[in-house]
Amino acid sequence: MKNYHFSNLSIMKFDLSKDQKVFLQKIDGICKLLREDEEKSYLNESLNEKVIPFFNKIGMLGCPISTEYGGLGYDILTYLLALERIGEEGSSMRTFFSCHTSIGQMILQNWGSDEQKKKFLPNTTKGIDIMGFALTEPNAGSDPSLIETTFEESRDHFIISGKKHWVGNGTFANTITTYAKEKGSDKKISAFIIDMNSSSIKKKEIKNKVGLLTVKNAIIEFNNYKISKENLLGLSGSGLSIAFSALIDGRLSVAAGAIGVMRDCLNETIRYSKSRSQHGTVLAKKQLVQQHISKIIVALESTKWLVYKAATIRQQLQIYLDTLKYEDNRWIFKINRKNKQYSDLRNECDRLSAIAKYYATNASVDVTNRSVQIFGSEGYKKTSRVARHFLDSRATTIYEGANEVLELKIACEILGSEYSAY
Ligand SMILES: Cc1cc2nc3c(=O)[nH]c(=O)nc-3n(C[C@H](O)[C@H](O)[C@H](O)COP(=O)(O)OP(=O)(O)OC[C@H]3O[C@@H](n4cnc5c(N)ncnc54)[C@H](O)[C@@H]3O)c2cc1C
Repeated sequence: MKNYHFSNLSIMKFDLSKDQKVFLQKIDGICKLLREDEEKSYLNESLNEKVIPFFNKIGMLGCPISTEYGGLGYDILTYLLALERIGEEGSSMRTFFSCHTSIGQMILQNWGSDEQKKKFLPNTTKGIDIMGFALTEPNAGSDPSLIETTFEESRDHFIISGKKHWVGNGTFANTITTYAKEKGSDKKISAFIIDMNSSSIKKKEIKNKVGLLTVKNAIIEFNNYKISKENLLGLSGSGLSIAFSALIDGRLSVAAGAIGVMRDCLNETIRYSKSRSQHGTVLAKKQLVQQHISKIIVALESTKWLVYKAATIRQQLQIYLDTLKYEDNRWIFKINRKNKQYSDLRNECDRLSAIAKYYATNASVDVTNRSVQIFGSEGYKKTSRVARHFLDSRATTIYEGANEVLELKIACEILGSEYSAY
């Protein structure tokens, strides 16, 4: 069995700092302002046009991005607490941020060269450019090593061809990262920064989704798309490692959002069960309704521990990532630390984020289902908050690593790679 760096529980504090409180109050204020628009947009299956400008006013479009590039420079936990609050307004709104920041900007921040960061990040933190992440393909979902999108190298550029699908924010994102295999090679996958304003890129909205109705997903096709060599992200051949590092942040964002979903369901079910009477008393006095409510509370509280612990370790990893510099075809740590410490931390983040996402999303499917049950027929209408949470939560056990695959990953980390059951 491997030795893990477990966090020092004695330094884990769950009180918010004054700074965090002030920022989260701003997030709360915007969420309240946007509530009605979000509901209307959901029912019309359209983008909520106010999300970007309103959150932009308080800097949320660059929350954990360095101030050097126009971000707020907040730590991972503060960012996740903001997503937790946004999650109360629905996983669609939270998913917009997961795609723009967690699996969008953070990839550039952590793996981009200084020039790439200077070129691309400032517009994204100002909300001028929106980001997305294009890894999945029709024949490569849980196993991204099967991707068929190719790149070819010529003297001063790369040519990319292939098809991605389900790209969140993909209908309007201006900058995305994508992942392609070198033509003729079965292994070498590289990451690229894509400027979406090109006639060689076609995008089409994915329709008829079950939930997540205010976030837009796209099919994106690259038809001999010419890209400057300067847009290669990280080392040639390190594409999957970059994508997997992004999924650590993606998973944490989903898990944090699920806390918000469960909190909103708890508030809604308390309100409703105290106001609705059947058989002579309010629903809140029925033992079986109380059983649903207690299960919601336990799921909510358990998820918080997993997410906050993972976020604390992820912050430690960020301190290492901030010291990375790309020089002479390799990553160099600016401070004199051994790479083993980095890889141990990354493995631990990988493990804890998988556990948090797996638990949080299963819990939120269960919690939202129970909430619909407490609301009875009232919960079976998309106009009820619990119904929308129920529909949205279903996607969260599929994306950012389907939960079955995460179960295998969690077990394999402890059993050892020789027991890999993928
Ligand atoms: C709403 C939504 C948004 C998305 N956003 C993005 C995005 O922004 N960018 C992006 O790149 N992708 C995105 N995706 C794609 C998502 O990451 C994939 O759907 C996911 O990785 C699963 O791939 P798949 O759908 O092809 O399912 P498959 O990989 O075909 O899996 C189907 C089922 O088989 C199970 N399974 C697969 N392999 C194994 C195994 N070895 N053992 C046991 N069970 C297994 C899975 O757990 C799943 O239940 C999104 C998907 C959805 C639904």
